Amino acid sequence: MKIFDGLYAFIWQDYRENNCNTYFIDRDKKILIDPGHDHLFGHVEQGLGQLGVPVSAIDYVLITHGHPDHLEAAFRLQNPSLLAMSREEYRFIRQWSGPNYDIPGPDLYLSEGMLQIGDVNLEVFDTPGHSPGSVCLYWAEKKVLFTGDVIFNQGIGRTDLPEGSGPRLKESIRRIKNLDVEILLSGHGEILAGKEAVQQNFRFIEDYWFRYI
Ligand SMILES: [Zn+2]
Repeated sequence: MKIFDGLYAFIWQDYRENNCNTYFIDRDKKILIDPGHDHLFGHVEQGLGQLGVPVSAIDYVLITHGHPDHLEAAFRLQNPSLLAMSREEYRFIRQWSGPNYDIPGPDLYLSEGMLQIGDVNLEVFDTPGHSPGSVCLYWAEKKVLFTGDVIFNQGIGRTDLPEGSGPRLKESIRRIKNLDVEILLSGHGEILAGKEAVQQNFRFIEDYWFRYI
């Protein structure tokens, strides 16, 4: 679905199978955020196809974090696409993945601060807790925040997975909650639109979920 000119969401709606939402920024450069599971990549391919974009046209693949439901299909997007994730997340998935899961090495690392790709400026926030090297990406010009599995509409990412941490997740959520956000694009579930709805969601998460992590 189109969110606005230059930003598209491929929302995963089949609850029988887990997969992430994938987002596509189509500006000077074509940027795919979290390609998802390998065997479900047809869903993204189809979405791109409807926009007349072949997979080979993707310039950058940005990974919010390295769980397979977000990262796995990155294998299909190597060369000429450039793959980016945080250094800590790459360390983490290499350490925990089995010998058969040969992670593609990043072409660049996402680190705290500004990331310019063509005419798109994204601010990278280190937001560990769901995984140790998770990042959120903030597109200030459009007031869009990509949160991966840090927060969702009415929810937060699990903290019981390897190297997860409730206290670190809380700290991460506090770091992003005051950003000026009109559209919150999370790794799973529905899109949250409108500044008030986004703020209300942060309040709900702090009031409710913070008790449990
Ligand atoms: Zn995850």
